[in-house]
Amino acid sequence: MESYNSITIESALRLDAIVKYLGVGKHWGGQDSEKEIVQACLEKVSGLFIGLEPTGEALVARTAKHYQVNFEEVRQDEDITSLEQKYLVGKKELGFARLREEIHSPNVDALLFQRINANPDDPDRWVAVLNLTITEDRAYWNRYHELSHRLAEPPQKILPFRRETTDNRDVVEKLIDTIAGEVAFHPRIFSPYIENLKTAPATFEAISAVRNAYSPSASLLAVTNAIVQRMERPALAFVASMKAKRNGPQHQKDLRIEPQCRNVLAQASDLFLIPNMRVPRSSCAYHTFLTGCPMTSLENTGDWTTSSGKAISQHRVTVSSIKLGDRIYGIMTI
Ligand SMILES: [Zn+2]
Repeated sequence: MESYNSITIESALRLDAIVKYLGVGKHWGGQDSEKEIVQACLEKVSGLFIGLEPTGEALVARTAKHYQVNFEEVRQDEDITSLEQKYLVGKKELGFARLREEIHSPNVDALLFQRINANPDDPDRWVAVLNLTITEDRAYWNRYHELSHRLAEPPQKILPFRRETTDNRDVVEKLIDTIAGEVAFHPRIFSPYIENLKTAPATFEAISAVRNAYSPSASLLAVTNAIVQRMERPALAFVASMKAKRNGPQHQKDLRIEPQCRNVLAQASDLFLIPNMRVPRSSCAYHTFLTGCPMTSLENTGDWTTSSGKAISQHRVTVSSIKLGDRIYGIMTI
């Protein structure tokens, strides 16, 4: 993550406040600070582990309780009406007057309200409203994202109202996402689930089993990314869907790649995919797309080319693929 260059003054002040609050320095120092901040947040959460069922779901519930964050979920308009009744009418929290309009505005994932009329020990001093009207996919992630704001930022600096959107690329939000990614799959409880997976080529059968056991409400992509990052072999994840070539005729569609995460070992091995490149017809990911059946096969990345014929570096890889809706999820492991 960048140092102060290209960061707004407001973000720089927030980063400094996080560094000071967590006791890891006086000023934001880029990547080094990020590592220390993540570590400090993991340690804070470790203090809550006594008697905890070792799952992501149990951890999020306990952390929310400890940090006085109450999660509310909106799936339909009636849910907004009942939240207005509960907080606007019942608890005189005027901020909730904007709830309906906010939920209906584009790209809103979640809204955070710091209650004005709360007592210091109220369990709902912070209310995080998750927008599940379109998809529930990001709910697990958003819970950890909101809690990571509470873990990392001094309470008095947290904005009394915040809108979380899917398109926010602010440097603080990226940092909070990084923290969320680590805390949601906290090594102390998550590591045992993936002990046998780390050294074998990844398959969706194994990943789905981990997801069901550790965090059934997390999206498959979130669990896949978490596992890829922690594997002891070069690995990357991707999503593919039918898309036209960039700037090409819109009716000519192909199964095209959207790269997701890749681990440091993949970076060191020069294993990568290029955005929008095609899934070759010989790949099991293509067969999964046609048949809907999950598959795993040994492949050569030399077969994976871009429209201009550019190939990626040659590796013998295990590809595993699964279809969800009209999207293919894939993993490549060397
Ligand atoms: Zn946020």
